Parts: sequence; structure tokens; C-alpha cells
Amino acid sequence: MALQEGAAGGGEKKRVVIVGGGCAGGLLAKSLQFNADVILIDPKEYFEISWASLRAVVEPTFAERTLFNHIDYFTNGRLITSRVVNITHTEVLTSEGLSIAYDYLIIATGHDDSVPKTRTARLQQYREENEKVKSASSILILGGGPTGVELAGELSIDFPEKKVTLIHRGSRLLEFIGTKASKKALNWLISKKVEVILDQSVDLDSVENKTYLTSSGETIKADCHFLCTGKPTGSSWLKETMLGDKLDSRGRLMVDEHLRVKGRTNVFAIGDITDTEELKQGYLAQKHALLVAKNIKLLMKGGDEQKMITYKPAAAMALVSLGRKEAVAQFPFTTIIGCIPGMIKSKDLFVGKTRKEMGLTSHSV
Ligand SMILES: Cc1cc2nc3c(=O)[nH]c(=O)nc-3n(C[C@H](O)[C@H](O)[C@H](O)COP(=O)(O)OP(=O)(O)OC[C@H]3O[C@@H](n4cnc5c(N)ncnc54)[C@H](O)[C@@H]3O)c2cc1C
Repeated sequence: MALQEGAAGGGEKKRVVIVGGGCAGGLLAKSLQFNADVILIDPKEYFEISWASLRAVVEPTFAERTLFNHIDYFTNGRLITSRVVNITHTEVLTSEGLSIAYDYLIIATGHDDSVPKTRTARLQQYREENEKVKSASSILILGGGPTGVELAGELSIDFPEKKVTLIHRGSRLLEFIGTKASKKALNWLISKKVEVILDQSVDLDSVENKTYLTSSGETIKADCHFLCTGKPTGSSWLKETMLGDKLDSRGRLMVDEHLRVKGRTNVFAIGDITDTEELKQGYLAQKHALLVAKNIKLLMKGGDEQKMITYKPAAAMALVSLGRKEAVAQFPFTTIIGCIPGMIKSKDLFVGKTRKEMGLTSHSV
């Protein structure tokens, strides 16, 4: 029998259930924890500054600051370490069979990834990936999106003696931003002796004797590989739920101007899962969280719906780091590569800033 959790369990306070503890859901939980009875549901016990994960591969101790437990910033609510598998008009259901009633529901399941449940296990995973890098002379990266390019950047700067090859199915790197940025990133990688192969893929089932066969029949020798082909949108679990018809063709939840799921009065969506017309970026996911926190506070007080804040999608802006000092930046009307954009992102990868936003010290203690 499913366990039952009634709504408004915390006395007078409304029950807010947040599904997904990434940078959107985590910040929302922190922002609402003293105003509502907040339940955060995430399959892992910790928050990860996900865009800093490539640095952790080359420097595992870096992850000491990029991973912190949800309870470090979410001190006045309830954390459920589980996956949500279904939702109804009144409840969410977890994979362990717990059913939790809500007054307000927020979907923040960005991208799907299978990572360890505990911070300790995740730190260990980074140490193992680092060992894999250190013991290899040649490394193959599969995928030329931001993850593949940033990993190639980290490896080429920290391990210049290793042969790094990046293979990408598409005709240009970083397809989510402009062609000029792609070209600049490509030239930068080539200048660091990274071999970049475009318009080809590798079937990992055909790997034999450290030899990888490409789609055009070429072979690549590498001691190990990293799969950087991008994580799927974290919405497959929603397909069979009452929100199934609110998913667009890319599997994103359709939201209105207040970030409410279209047609719903008490269900919101924030972060990469939404269909807002903008690049999917963490700083925008955080903006969504802060805006929805204000809108929910207004609704909880019985405020006028017409007074809810309206979200305006942001202009295209993104920074892709290239090792520890440089980066390529996409701004609305221009792209820049080198140390200037690098100064903004690449030294600390916004880790100190994000930790402060979550109420922690810049450095781990
Ligand atoms: C290489 C790279 C570099 C980047 N650099 C930057 C940058 O410099 N600046 C920037 O602003 N952005 C950057 N981004 C983008 C940024 O990482 C994302 O926009 C951001 O992580 C989105 O946050 P989110 O909370 O929406 O989703 P996610 O971070 O994907 O979090 C989703 C959460 O939901 C949980 N979840 C999933 N399914 C379920 C379920 N069924 N039940 C419960 N929980 C579930 C997951 O465990 C996870 O905790 C970068 C991305 C990449 C790949």
C-alpha cells in the first residue's frame, strides 16, 4: 500500500512540492523554505553545480566545492531522496511508492542523468575518472557540444602531453550557439593539438582492442573514452502523467508567461525543462526559480493572480570555457574568444558565486 502524506502537513502553511534538485529546484526550495511547507524530491542527496563537472575530472578535489548536500542549504523543509514517477491533480508518487499531496507543484527535472546517490560516492566517481585520464596516453571524446568541448579544453590544458581526439556527429561544434563561436572554438582546440573529427560518429559496441571504428570506416586508437553526447531532457517520466499533453515536440513543458504549466493554476515549471524561447542556461534556471518563488508567495497570501510577475525570455548569451583561463562567449550581437571571457568563467566556473547564492561560504569547510 502506498504511504500517504496529506497536504499542508506543516499546520497553516501551504504544501509546496518541488520535483528536481538542480540549480532551479534547489534555489526555489531554499527561497520558499520559511514561507511554506516545502518538500524537495531529488534522486540524489546532494546539489551539484553541474557545469563545473568537467574541471572535477581533471582536478577531483575541485568537486569538494561543487557538490554539497541539499540539507546544507535546505534547512527548514523535507528532502525525499527518490525519483518521482507520476503526478495527479493532487499528489505526486515516488518510485518507492510514497504519495505526497501538494497545494503547489513545481517541476524542475531539467536533464536526466544517472549519478550516484551520495556526495561521497560522486566524489569517488570523479577520483576514478581522474585515474582513467592519468593512466591514458590517448583519450577519445564523443560529442562536440558544450560538455565535449569543455572537457577537451580541460584535458588539453592540464594534460598537454596526452593525445586528445574529439569526434562529433554534427558539422560544427557547439551547435547551440552561433557559427562564429563554433569556428573559434574549433580553431582554439586545433591550436592545442586536439584532433577534431566532424560529421562522424562511433559505435561503442564495435570497440575492440582500444580501436574505435567511425561511421565512415576510419579507425581511432585511444586508451579510453568519455561519452559527452548530452543528457536527455528529464521529461520522459511525464509522458504518461496528467502533464503528458503539456510536453512540446522536444519534450519540454509548455509554460505561460508566469512560468505556470499551461492550463494549470497550481503547477509551475522552471529551468531547462521549460519551453521558454531562450538558451538553456543555469543562470536563467535560477531566474525562473526566484520569479516563481515570488509568484507562489503572492498566491499563498491570496493575492491577485493578475499581479503575478511575468517572465521575459533572455537574449542569447552563453560562455563555454576552454581550460582554466580562456573561454568562448556568445553575446547577442557578437562572439569573443580568449582571456576576457575566460576571466568571467574559466578560473572558478561560477562555483564561489553559486555557493554564495545558495547561502554557503565560497569555500567548502
Ligand atoms: C558543459 C556545460 C556547461 C555549462 N555552462 C553553463 C554556464 O557557464 N552558465 C550557466 O548558467 N549554465 C551553464 N550550463 C547550463 C546549466 O548546466 C543548465 O542550464 C542547468 O544545470 C539547468 O538546471 P535545472 O535545475 O533546470 O536542471 P538540472 O541541473 O538538469 O537538474 C535537474 C534535477 O532534477 C532531478 N530529476 C530528474 N528527474 C527526476 C525525477 N523524475 N524525480 C525527481 N528528480 C528528478 C535531477 O536529479 C537533477 O537534480 C552548462 C551546461 C553544460 C552541459
